[in-house]
Amino acid sequence: MSINLSGGCDHIKTNSAENPIDIHTCHCSVCKSVTGQATTHVAFFNHGDLTVDNPQKINRQPFNANNPGGPLELCTCSDCGTPVMLDDKMGRIRAVVPNIMGFDPSFPAATYHAFYDPSTGVPKPDDGRPVCEGLRSDFVWPPEK
Ligand SMILES: [Zn+2]
Ligand SMILES: [Zn+2]
Repeated sequence: MSINLSGGCDHIKTNSAENPIDIHTCHCSVCKSVTGQATTHVAFFNHGDLTVDNPQKINRQPFNANNPGGPLELCTCSDCGTPVMLDDKMGRIRAVVPNIMGFDPSFPAATYHAFYDPSTGVPKPDDGRPVCEGLRSDFVWPPEK
């Protein structure tokens, strides 16, 4: 079955004909501060799988304001301010947060919890999906480009 996952805003469209390589519920503090959500549904695509039209309209800023030299850049629309994706300067992945980056609610669900930190005092998720303190141990980063 071929799929077509598309997101973005009225000015910039993102699209993938391939499934994400990783989908998790992220518990990290950076996602919390960027999205304002207690947990964040995050999908990683192979960098070449997620295409972007009108890339000249993108504004780039560090995803982690406390680590401006980090590899991930938050890409927002210069016309309307909508976040459209996270782009990896090392060319490995592009990541999206489906519910704030214009994707359909039918977007594939997260398969596990990532970056869960018991020291935050947040109760450990008990929805039956694996709970990891980082990414899942068998996740392999695609090669740099
Ligand atoms: Zn996160
Ligand atoms: Zn826009």
